[in-house]
Amino acid sequence: MKTIGYCAHDEHSELVPYTFERRELRDNDVAMEILYCGVCHSDLHTARNDWGWTAYPNVPGHEIVGRVTEIGANVTKFKVGDHVAVGCMVDSCQECEHCHSGEEQFCLEGMTQTYNSPDRINGDITFGGYSKHLIVREEFVLNVPKSLDLAKVAPLLCAGITTYSPLRTWNVGPASRIAVVGMGGLGHMAIKLAVGLGAEVTVISRSESKKADALALGAHEFLVSEDADAMALAANRFELIIDTVPVKHDLNPYTPLLNIDGTLVLVGQVGPLAEPMTPPLILGRRRIAGSLIGGIKETQEMLDFCGRMNILPECEMIRMDEINHAFERMEKSDVRYRFVIDMASLTLDAA
Ligand SMILES: [Zn+2]
Ligand SMILES: [Zn+2]
Repeated sequence: MKTIGYCAHDEHSELVPYTFERRELRDNDVAMEILYCGVCHSDLHTARNDWGWTAYPNVPGHEIVGRVTEIGANVTKFKVGDHVAVGCMVDSCQECEHCHSGEEQFCLEGMTQTYNSPDRINGDITFGGYSKHLIVREEFVLNVPKSLDLAKVAPLLCAGITTYSPLRTWNVGPASRIAVVGMGGLGHMAIKLAVGLGAEVTVISRSESKKADALALGAHEFLVSEDADAMALAANRFELIIDTVPVKHDLNPYTPLLNIDGTLVLVGQVGPLAEPMTPPLILGRRRIAGSLIGGIKETQEMLDFCGRMNILPECEMIRMDEINHAFERMEKSDVRYRFVIDMASLTLDAA
C-alpha cells in the first residue's frame, strides 16, 4: 500500500515528506488510516540519533490513533470502521515467558518497536505513526473506548501507559501517597492517572512556577525541591515516587522522601544519573527501580480505565508540516503537555 509520512533522512535533517510502501496485508494484520499521532520525546531522540541506533530514513511516531480500513483473513478482534490505537510495540515472539504473561515489552527476543525496528518476518525497518496509513498484526492493536475524545487519546499510548504501569505494579490506590517528579508529557499523565486511582498526589518541582498547573491537573500538594525545610518535612512520606525527568539528574534529594520499603521508579531518563547515595536505600530498605511502557493487556486496561474515568492528556493540536517547529518547542519544554498531529493535515500529494 502506497502511503506518505514525514521522515528524517539523517541525524541533521529536518523531517520532510516521504512517500513509501506499507507491507502487503498478512492474514493476521489490521490496516488503518491514521487519524492522530502524539509527539513523544523518543521521536525527537530517534530522529536525531541521540541514542546511536537510528536507521534512516526514520519515520517516528508511536502514539497512534486510527480507523480500521481493511483486515486480514484471520483477524477476529476488529472490523472495518473500528477506532483503534497502536503504541510503542508492533510485534514480539509471542512464545517466551514474558510474552505469555502479557509483558511483551520484556520479550526475551526483543520486542519489535513501532518504528526503527526490523520487522520479524521480512526484516524491513518499521515506520511509525507520522504517516497516513499503518499495518499492524492484530495482537498489537488496541480498542479505543467510545466515550473518549479521539483527538486526545494518542498520548495515552506512550505517556499514559508509561506512567500507568508503575502505578499498577506498585499497587497504588485509595490512601496511597505518591509523588511525581517532573511535569512534562509523562508527569502530567502520572498526576491524572494517580488521582484517578484514588491516590494522594504531590508534585515535586524545582520552583513554584508549575504549582497552579499541578493543582489544576488534580495534584493535592506541591513541593518545591529547592525549599530545604519543606523537603525535610516530607521525609519518609511517599510509598512511590514516579521520576519522569528525561535528562541526567540527582536522585539524592528524593530518596529520603520515600517511606520504608518505598520505591523511586525511573521512567524518563535513559542513560546515566548523578551518583546516588546509598544510605537512604540501606537505612530504609528503599529501592530505585525502572519501568518500561506496559504490555498490551495492561495498555488496554489503561485505555478502558481512562474511558470509564474520562481521563485524557492535555493536548496541543498541530499540523503535520509544523512538526519541526514542535520538536524545537519540545526541546525547550514549551508544550502543555503533549503535541498531537492531526493527520488530516497530511495528504498523499504532499510529497
Ligand atoms: Zn514515547
Ligand atoms: Zn517473547
